[in-house]
Amino acid sequence: LFVAFEGGDGAGKSTQVRLLVEALARRGVDDVLVTRQPGGTPLGQALRDLVLHGDHVAPRAEALLYAADKAQHVELVLRPALAAGRVVVTDRYVDSSVAYQGAGRDLGVEDVTRLQHWAVGGLLPDLTVLLDVTAATGRERRGARGAADRLEAEGDDFHDAVRRHFLLLAQADPQRYVVVDAALPPEEAHALVLARVGQALDR
Ligand code: C5P
Repeated sequence: LFVAFEGGDGAGKSTQVRLLVEALARRGVDDVLVTRQPGGTPLGQALRDLVLHGDHVAPRAEALLYAADKAQHVELVLRPALAAGRVVVTDRYVDSSVAYQGAGRDLGVEDVTRLQHWAVGGLLPDLTVLLDVTAATGRERRGARGAADRLEAEGDDFHDAVRRHFLLLAQADPQRYVVVDAALPPEEAHALVLARVGQALDR
């Protein structure tokens, strides 16, 4: 089973990933690989540092670096784990790139989608959990943990565009997505996530 968590900055993805993994372990599902994009391989970690903490990266270069991170991650980590029958949970996947680079950075949703699907060789999650967060809530949460200037510079319009696109993706494929209101208390959001992951595991 391949599960991706998606959502804007400050949506609480890492908390929800942790709560899910703990709940799965309590159910005896303990062969779970938890990973993230960008940064799920040594190459990916180097790319993550370059994109997030280096000098300004031009938007198209950024899209290509995220695609390279994914190509490496799929081939070295995700496909082998899935082939071994493990449950894979990733913090961000293709949809983040489509929403951030395609819609947020205005590079064109179709082009970025094609690039991303090529990079991952068509591997898509069985289930995508979208933690839906408004720009304002995301900003407050990021503020609370001392977010980078980069995120503040992007502003609410950028984060609104990213959010709208995540929601469009989810509406287009309701079978594969569960949309959870990120403003819910973490335990309530977690219960909704767990119910849906449980269904997918039983299938
Ligand atoms: O959620 P995480 O901390 O891994 O995300 C790191 C940053 O990378 C986020 O602030 C997000 O804005 C950015 N990002 C992006 N495009 C992606 C993936 C992440 O802009 N495809």
